[in-house]
Amino acid sequence: MNATTNISANTQQFFDLEDKYGAHNYHPLPVVLKKGLGVHLWDVDDKQYFDFLSGYSAVNQGHCHPKIIAALTEQAQTLTLTSRAFHNNLLGEYEQFITAYFGYNKVLPMNTGVEAVETALKLSRKWGYAVKGIEENQAKIIVCSGNFHGRTIAVISYSTDPAAVKDFGPFAPGFQVIPFNDLVALEKALQDKNVCAFLFEPIQGEAGVVVPNDGYYNSVRHLCDDYNVLMVADEIQTGLSRTGNMLACDAENVRPDILILGKALSGGILPISAVLADDEIMMTIKPGEHGSTYGGNPLACKVAIAALSVLKEENMAATAEAMGRLFRDELAKLNSPFISIIRGRGLLNAIVIKHTNPDAAWELCLAMKDNGLLAKPTHGDKIRFAPPLVINEAQVKEAVAIIEKSLATLT
Ligand code: PLP
Repeated sequence: MNATTNISANTQQFFDLEDKYGAHNYHPLPVVLKKGLGVHLWDVDDKQYFDFLSGYSAVNQGHCHPKIIAALTEQAQTLTLTSRAFHNNLLGEYEQFITAYFGYNKVLPMNTGVEAVETALKLSRKWGYAVKGIEENQAKIIVCSGNFHGRTIAVISYSTDPAAVKDFGPFAPGFQVIPFNDLVALEKALQDKNVCAFLFEPIQGEAGVVVPNDGYYNSVRHLCDDYNVLMVADEIQTGLSRTGNMLACDAENVRPDILILGKALSGGILPISAVLADDEIMMTIKPGEHGSTYGGNPLACKVAIAALSVLKEENMAATAEAMGRLFRDELAKLNSPFISIIRGRGLLNAIVIKHTNPDAAWELCLAMKDNGLLAKPTHGDKIRFAPPLVINEAQVKEAVAIIEKSLATLT
């Protein structure tokens, strides 16, 4: 923890508890939050902040959105979990709602993002054997370097981040890594007849908001069609209005074969994820072959319908587009010698810090915290800026003023 930041005795006691009793698998910014509303968070000393992380894009609809909270509290007093051993009165309604919303035949509901990714991997392999006719145990899935799809053993098996994989092997076979945004490498990889799917993030979030070239999604779509391979888009971070469209792939009117959603599917209230696909793919899974105790529970169904409704009712994709543009323009006007790159789409943005001090991005995040804005570095020199999609013009300008003031502390 850095000494330049002011820590009250009140705050310190929360750090001490976590330090003593919790696993040390995270390195959080030194702030203890107790309340959230819209774009704002408050710490245990009642200091107010702009939230520029949004729970890694889970809180697109803003903290404690009243409509989603109302759905949650009402349903929580009625029925929360039945398991899939029985039917419940909300699952079908939710399935009808979400499949119509995104235009797929069917949905498979799960909880966390990584579970939905695992589901997509299993579905892809099933389709590969049952429909494409790949020989047993030979199916291959193509993924991209710099990917982040979660933390299970299967999913880290194709991670290229040393910290994610070191000492966690042996890993699952059946994956091939190619560079992101490289169509030549993709076409070469797809020529292997055992390839069943190409799994990718339309914008690589954890890698530091890496946006591919215009036309990439379209070309991926065509290549997947040409080689009879499933296009699998992990829109857990990029989807649900974050990048200025309902889905990042919508920027090129491209429809993936398998769509993976999570995070903002609940507006940051419960772990709710989903995999959407058409019957040819989804119907390859038979009873007993896949599932989850909490997946499709009535509380989640009610919350997800509310969370998705709010995105459209409040035109959040349009806000993301307009406020994202304003944010990048205002940041560019600062002309800071410490910012080498400003990039992003909608309200999924990042800057790359240029400084002789390798900890400069962390130091800047501490200064921004002291000045009332919370953001977190990723991969050392990059800082992601992704506020809730309810932010307005005055708040964007106030936030950029905080960033400017904080940049001035870097020498
Ligand atoms: N996929 C992407 C693109 C993500 O950004 C994340 C989380 O950051 C995940 C998958 C994993 O989601 P979860 O942490 O809910 O398992």
